[in-house]
Amino acid sequence: MSAVLEIEGLRKTYKSRRRGVRNALDGFDMRVEAGQVHGFLGPNGSGKTTTLRTLLGLIQPDGGRMAILGQEVPAALPTVAGQVGAIVESPQFFPHFSARDTLSLLAGAGDVPAVRVDEVLELVGLRDRADERVKTYSLGMKQRLAVASALLKNPKLLILDEPANGLDPGGIREMRTLMRTLAESGMTVVLSSHILGEIQLICDEVTIISLGRRVAAGPVEQVLAQHSHGGVRVRLD
Ligand code: ATP
Repeated sequence: MSAVLEIEGLRKTYKSRRRGVRNALDGFDMRVEAGQVHGFLGPNGSGKTTTLRTLLGLIQPDGGRMAILGQEVPAALPTVAGQVGAIVESPQFFPHFSARDTLSLLAGAGDVPAVRVDEVLELVGLRDRADERVKTYSLGMKQRLAVASALLKNPKLLILDEPANGLDPGGIREMRTLMRTLAESGMTVVLSSHILGEIQLICDEVTIISLGRRVAAGPVEQVLAQHSHGGVRVRLD
């Protein structure tokens, strides 16, 4: 199987006057194969957001290597950018716009054909409510609209930072259905969470990060079985 995402020995230290020196990533490794829904699990502050932002070229690493779709990043980011959809910060939507207006605006700005707006509305299950204002949406619907915006370019790799954060069990199940549909269409999804139950419900494989290092990786049930037998030691909140 081919790796869609490869990270080896990634290092990042933050230095700030207020918070001092923080070793956010301390030789972190990760590998994601094509067509997986891959969970990126770790407690708050373990380095997930730093990893995802570094992958997207938003943070400069101090060492290590990364490749997306077999191309080294950040050097190849301009080449692979069109094949990667990402939500690494909660996007702010205009509350008085509908989902369709929101996506049409983004599609226009990104040279995406208008027909794709209807396709992604259907994919994320918002077609029936597409013309209602975003301010009437539940949190789950807003999160799915965020995913829809990342799907406009029909990416090969979708990167989502905490997409299920704050969702009730129904919202998490809808997110799971969406992730499964995307994986079945051949897309590879990486999603982060600090909640074990979310990863268990949504993902096929998982990489667990703690204190900026990989502590376990593999099929979710296998990793969790090892974890419960004490084979993997990780603090999760
Ligand atoms: P969360 O789920 O809370 O977002 P995370 O796993 O995404 O956590 P990061 O946000 O990557 O973790 O943070 C990793 C470490 O780096 C933490 O100790 C955090 O306090 C520190 N850190 C993150 N951003 C900065 C920054 N801009 N300046 C200084 N330290 C930072």
